Amino acid sequence: MIPLLDLKTQYAPLKAEIQAVMNRVCDSQYFILGPDVEAFEQDLATYCQAQFALGVSSGTDALLLALMALDIGPGDEVITTPYTFFATAGCVARVGAKAVFVDIDPQSYNLDPRQIEAAITSQTRAIMPVHLYGQCADMEAIMAVAERHNLPVIEDAAQAIGAEYKGQRAGNIGHIGCFSFFPSKNLGAFGDAGAVTTNDPELAKKMKFMRMHGEHTRYYHQYIGGNFRIDALQAAILSVKLRYLDEWTAGRQRNAADYNALFRQTGLTEGDNPMITLPHESLETGQYAVRTEAEVNPFSGHRHIYNQYVLRFHEKRDELKAYLQEHQIGHAIYYPVSLHEQECFAAWGGKTGQYPHSELAAKQTLAIPIYPELTMAQKEEVVQTIARFYQ
Ligand SMILES: *Cc1c(COP(=O)(O)O)cnc(C)c1O
Repeated sequence: MIPLLDLKTQYAPLKAEIQAVMNRVCDSQYFILGPDVEAFEQDLATYCQAQFALGVSSGTDALLLALMALDIGPGDEVITTPYTFFATAGCVARVGAKAVFVDIDPQSYNLDPRQIEAAITSQTRAIMPVHLYGQCADMEAIMAVAERHNLPVIEDAAQAIGAEYKGQRAGNIGHIGCFSFFPSKNLGAFGDAGAVTTNDPELAKKMKFMRMHGEHTRYYHQYIGGNFRIDALQAAILSVKLRYLDEWTAGRQRNAADYNALFRQTGLTEGDNPMITLPHESLETGQYAVRTEAEVNPFSGHRHIYNQYVLRFHEKRDELKAYLQEHQIGHAIYYPVSLHEQECFAAWGGKTGQYPHSELAAKQTLAIPIYPELTMAQKEEVVQTIARFYQ
């Protein structure tokens, strides 16, 4: 049995260190904001190379807070990708605005910047790229369109902490960065948690107030915010785990390079009509290639953190899924339905066929285990099981 993610193996060597900080917080009985939250926010801002970081209650609430801080509401449109986790567009709906989808680039699975301009209307209030699977969207092109139209950019960096685009860290390229510390993210809390980052002092101040019901002084409310606070316990745990994050990222990158080499040996990735397409990494703006080296990032300033290692299977993806289930190989489909085809967004008028690359990705992709502690034998077993299915 190889699980998709093995958090127990990650926790074992950290147990004493994490339990010590948990005990400290429990002994202090200081649970809401306070010194542990402030210390984590400092560490996170440094890590993300951002001026300001604020801990919040989840990645979803980070997105909601960002939209609220930009006063986005009814009648407004936000441009985003249809191929992402539900929360990206769900939050747009929750503030009363409309998500206007733009199709993805089929190699990176991220928003295709060439199609953004055509989707901009007089109602557009923001662009919200998602750095899917741990790789930054093509931010240079996205920022260029945003600047031409004077639109703020909210980065959904929930899957991309520490990812880089031309040397700039995810969440620090647009106006607000949104992070999730859901346990399955590369930096996972012991429950729900998230963060926002920004370099804009006004937005930082506003989001800090809005995280706490919009109050600027106890019981004096300048805005209508919400309870979007991070727990002190989660912040203390995350401060410990943050120190290991780069080591874990290196492990994920090594696994990706090993998988790429192993899959190439199967012959299934070769030829004009390969059965499998390997994940592609950003080489230069708009150009992608398959990673071949483990330790060294061969590409110029780009850093893929492999929150997920996602393959495209040109045939029989669903049969393969059943086969992996049967052989106890962890896997997941992110995401089986594009957001424009979700029942709850029917009022936005999305039609099947409207975003062909997103719809095809939903039918063909499947993620396999990539967590840092995977052994070579486990990687070989995963690849051999898939190869046996296609033989
Ligand atoms: C995980 C995730 C979120 C939501 O984060 P939560 O902490 O689970 O609320 C939002 N967007 C994307 C792309 C995600 O992967």
